[in-house]
Amino acid sequence: MTEASVHEPTEPTRAAASGARVNLFGLDREAMAAFFRSHGESAFRAKQVMQWIYARGVTDFAAMTDLSKKLRDRLPTIAEIRPPTKIREQASADGTRKWLLAVTEDLDPDNAIEAVYIPEPDRATLCISSQIGCALDCSFCATGKQGLNRNLTTAEIIGQVWMSEHDLRAEGRVHGDRALSNIVFMGMGEPLANYRAVVPAIRILLDDYGFGLSKRRVTVSTSGMVPFMDRLREEVDVALAVSLHAPTDALRDELVPINRKYPLAELMGACDRYVAGKERRAHVVYEYVLLAGVNDTPAHAKSLAALLRDRPAKVNLIPFNPFEGSGYERPAEDRIRAFQDTLHGKGVRTTVRRTRGDDIDAACGQLVGRVASRQKRHFRDVPIRVESKRANPA
Ligand code: SAH
Ligand code: SF4
Repeated sequence: MTEASVHEPTEPTRAAASGARVNLFGLDREAMAAFFRSHGESAFRAKQVMQWIYARGVTDFAAMTDLSKKLRDRLPTIAEIRPPTKIREQASADGTRKWLLAVTEDLDPDNAIEAVYIPEPDRATLCISSQIGCALDCSFCATGKQGLNRNLTTAEIIGQVWMSEHDLRAEGRVHGDRALSNIVFMGMGEPLANYRAVVPAIRILLDDYGFGLSKRRVTVSTSGMVPFMDRLREEVDVALAVSLHAPTDALRDELVPINRKYPLAELMGACDRYVAGKERRAHVVYEYVLLAGVNDTPAHAKSLAALLRDRPAKVNLIPFNPFEGSGYERPAEDRIRAFQDTLHGKGVRTTVRRTRGDDIDAACGQLVGRVASRQKRHFRDVPIRVESKRANPA
């Protein structure tokens, strides 16, 4: 099986090695229990502290009154609960909000990520980033144009959710006891290229002592990193969206370069394995960006329908969101409708993603944050190593 490509230390080991405090946003329940045990405390402290952080939104150890005074005094010397720092907040006319966030590890304003809040009548979604930039270089994606600076840590991923939940709760924007009902890994970066940090983050999102979200309301979107799709299936139970964008290898090689490594036959096999044996309604959402004159003809729609025939699938059409210098255009409305009609006619469930927040460049594929480092890398420079599975060392 597979292992993450970059052998980065996990948060507790990195913190211990440097003498720094551990950011508790980076620890799932098991890792948090291990952290307390390693400091001579009961593993049960993990549940208590997670409830303070995620249910009550408290980051000040002194306020955690069900911990002993001794532990409350000690915790600030060994741990911290540090959300990302807001650099800018923008609100769209349609209620969408975008935050530009300095990440916690380096607090460098030239390295910032974006998270987007999308309120709808029946749900409130946060679209989060998993990397600073992205190495995979899809031809129509603004993030991809930047290359990769680095992976986010689990703490930096969870920090986006906590910060947004905290702000929205403070404004009274809650449904039940939560502000956010859905999380999608559709911001900057390829989540499965940062597998090691993303999986603990998913655990925290799903954990009743974390954000307590249902598995159908957390979606990982991947451009098709096949080995990590299989691992994900084994390790956590979340919804999967796959960025298909083309029904043939020739076209997909051009639009989504990772296809040259994991072509369609392998990708579709991984999608089938992902849903095999899951509940009856389980399906993969196939994202398909519509690029005028490139992948939006009736022939493309028919060939897409043929590819998805007999598969548990929903198609989500994303009319291209333009950015400067992209070289692509969004198809006209009637063309988008015709594409959807063709798929419907062939029995493929299809929705069109309504563009949200485009007045603040918050729509899919427009997130650029700030990626100013000289270490930027592209697909061809980043080895995707496939090794045997190891126990999570956290
Ligand atoms: N890296 C992951 C998730 C982030 S992108 C992935 O590729 O799946 C979320 C979705 O937005 C993906 O389907 C992506 O292909 C799509 N996207 C990227 N650029 C876009 C653009 N300019 N217009 C519309 N959708 C875009
Ligand atoms: Fe990366 Fe996804 Fe953009 Fe492709 S579409 S470059 S995988 S963020």
